[in-house]
Parts: sequence; structure tokens; C-alpha cells
Amino acid sequence: MPELPEVETMVRGIAPRLEGYQIAHAQLRKTDVLRQVTKSRLIKTLEGNTIEQVTRRAKHAVFRLSSGDRMIIQPRMTGSFLIYNNPLTTAQTKYTVLICTLNDGRRFVYRDVRRLGTIWLLDETGWIAYSARIGPEPLEETFTPFVFANRLKGTRTAVKKAIMDQRRLAGVGNIYANEALFDARLNPARSTHKLSLEEFARLHAAIVDVLQRALAASGTTLRDYRTATGERGEFQFELRVYGRGGEKCVNCGKRLRMTHEIDRRQTTFCRKCQR
Ligand SMILES: [Zn+2]
Repeated sequence: MPELPEVETMVRGIAPRLEGYQIAHAQLRKTDVLRQVTKSRLIKTLEGNTIEQVTRRAKHAVFRLSSGDRMIIQPRMTGSFLIYNNPLTTAQTKYTVLICTLNDGRRFVYRDVRRLGTIWLLDETGWIAYSARIGPEPLEETFTPFVFANRLKGTRTAVKKAIMDQRRLAGVGNIYANEALFDARLNPARSTHKLSLEEFARLHAAIVDVLQRALAASGTTLRDYRTATGERGEFQFELRVYGRGGEKCVNCGKRLRMTHEIDRRQTTFCRKCQR
């Protein structure tokens, strides 16, 4: 599932090619991805509107339109963004969900093979309210160890679950939670409220570091994720624990343990290095 580095990479790839362009025509080919909006309202809002800004919030791509409305796309497992200079061929049309024809004739496409992704439309007020319910962005300067500890300290759940909770922290999913906890030498099952300030600071640093390194590598491609230019990310070659259950720990050589006990998702960790 695309997490912060992957969605950020996708957004950075398309933003300069979309911002300032008007949507002349919009075609929605599948409606099961829609949330809080009907097909007719989405089309009516998009057509004639200008894409003013494309940004990321948590794992969402946010398209701010000149009307103040936001089209929010969460690409989830198999969603991707593509831009074509010419009308789409039949092969290119396959799996497309949304096709926006821009005023210069190019096509902006949201493609989603399994359609686990979602498209929302919120007005300015709705967007501000929604965004306020999401936790801080870990790559913003205002995200300090103090802000992080404050957001998490009240929770008794396993620390891995706490850092993946989008209301407490934006953008971290299963891959980067596993990696950050390994780098911070913390057992993923630890109760969050029992972490010391020093451990919060270590985890904060590990989260920021792994997200920055993953972003520099254009994200992690395990299966479907591609950048806006169709390339694979490269961070999968730098993963230290995720997907490596049974392999040797890069620090101590002990076999990494994989469990589904914490949150039913894959958690891989080293029992010796992570306490
Ligand atoms: Zn180890």
C-alpha cells in the first residue's frame, strides 16, 4: 500500500504537469471508487475547473481546484496517476477510472487495477475539518520529538499500532512502521505509554530518517506501485526487516521473527535488537 514516500513521489511527479491547467472534460468510467460524492456532482465540479495545486496529506493526493473544492484520491494498493499527451489507446484505457482531458489536450488519468482506491470530493470547509482529524506530517519542520511524544503518550496500544494510526501520525503504514521500529531498536509490541522520552526521541528520529531515505529512493515497489513516469521505487532493496521474516538480522545475525499477533498484519522484528 502506498505510504507517505510513495504518494509523495506520485504527487511530485504530476504536480508541475497539472497545476494551472483547466479540466475541459472529465470521464468517470467506474463509480465504485466514489466516496461522499455522486458521479454527476464529481463531473460537474471537475469540468471547467482549474487544478490550482496538487499536494499530499497523509496517504492522499489532494487536488485543489479553483472553486476551492478538493478532489482527494487515495491510491491504496493498485492505484496510479498517469499523464498522456494524446488520446488514450484501447490498451491504455484498460483499468482507467478517471480521465480528465486538460485544456491543452493532455489526459490526466487515475488508473486502478483492483479499485481499492477511493475518490472523494470535499468543499473547503469539509476539507479543513477532515484534515484537522489527521495527525501531524512527519516530514514537516514543525514535527518535533515533543509534538510526536505528545500525540502518542496517552495511548496504551502497541507502539506499532499507534504510529500507524493516521489520527496520531500521518502517512506511516506497515512497511515504514516495521523499519522505523527496527532502526529505533524498539519491540513493536511495547505499550506506547511505557516508552521513555528518550525512546520517543529515538523513534521520532527513526521515522523521519526512514521516510526521507524512502522518498529519496522514490518509494518501495513490492508489486504494483509505480512513479508518475512508470518507474519502480528502489527502497525495497534497503528494507532491513519488512518481508524478511526468518532471515538474519543485519545487526546481530539472529533470525528475524515474523508475527501477525500485534495488528494481524505482518510484523517482523529482531528479538535481540528490539527490546
Ligand atoms: Zn538483531
